[in-house]
Order: sequence, then C-alpha cells, then structure tokens
Amino acid sequence: MCQICDNEYKDEEYIYIHNCKKIVNIPNIEGLDRLDINNCPNLINIHNIQGLNHLYIYKCPNIVNIPNIEGLEILQINDCLNVINIPNIKELKYLEIYDCLNVINIPNIKELNVIYILNCLKLRNNLNNYKPDKYLSVLKIQQWLKRLLFK
Ligand SMILES: [Zn+2]
Repeated sequence: MCQICDNEYKDEEYIYIHNCKKIVNIPNIEGLDRLDINNCPNLINIHNIQGLNHLYIYKCPNIVNIPNIEGLEILQINDCLNVINIPNIKELKYLEIYDCLNVINIPNIKELNVIYILNCLKLRNNLNNYKPDKYLSVLKIQQWLKRLLFK
C-alpha cells in the first residue's frame, strides 16, 4: 500500500511510492511536480500527468510505456525490463537509462543536454545512428558503448 492506494495524494507536489505490490495504475495528479516510483511489481500504467517536471521509475518490471508528458524535463528509468521505447518528449533536458536491457532506441530530442546510459544492451547497435544535437553537453555511456559511438 502507498499514499496513492490510500487515496491521500491531493495537493502534493512530490510523491514517492515504494514497495507497493498493489498499485497497478498511477492516476492523473493535479499540481504534481515530481514523481518517484521504486519497486512496484504490478504497476502497469502511469497516467500522462500534466505539469510533471521530474519522473523517476525504478524496478517496475511491468511498465511498458513511458508516458509522453508535455513539459517533462527530467526522466530517469532504472531497471525496468519491459520498457522498449523512450518517448520523444519535446522539452526533456535530462535522460538517464540504467539497466534497461530491452530499450532499443533513444529519440533525438532537441532540448536534451544530458544523457546517461548504463547497461542497456539492445541500445548498442542503434547508438551507431544516434547523432547528438549540438546542445548536448554531457553524454555518458558505458565504456564499450562509448567506443562505438565515437569511433
Ligand atoms: Zn500502493
């Protein structure tokens, strides 16, 4: 159980949900600025939460789709084995993808200036075609991926 299951999330700007086995869906939460989700094994859906600035998803093996939230600036996805695609979020500035073995691609987002990628095996081949935008200031990729990218 968590504050969303308990229906106690009105007027919150920051919500951290962890170790909830019950939650399946994150609803739209008005006014929410940051949402952290950690180890929710049955979570399937995250609503496209308007106004959300920062989304962190850790260890949610049943999440397939990351919502394309307009205005989202920070997206961190760690250890989510069913995520395949990262949506093309126009305003995204910071993207971190760790231990997502099935992510196959990252979109070419104009505003993006920090990308961290670690242990995402399927991204390897596709990064050959990735052309970072001129605004990209930090691109940290696991060493063997980096060699591919900058060869
Ligand atoms: Zn819960």
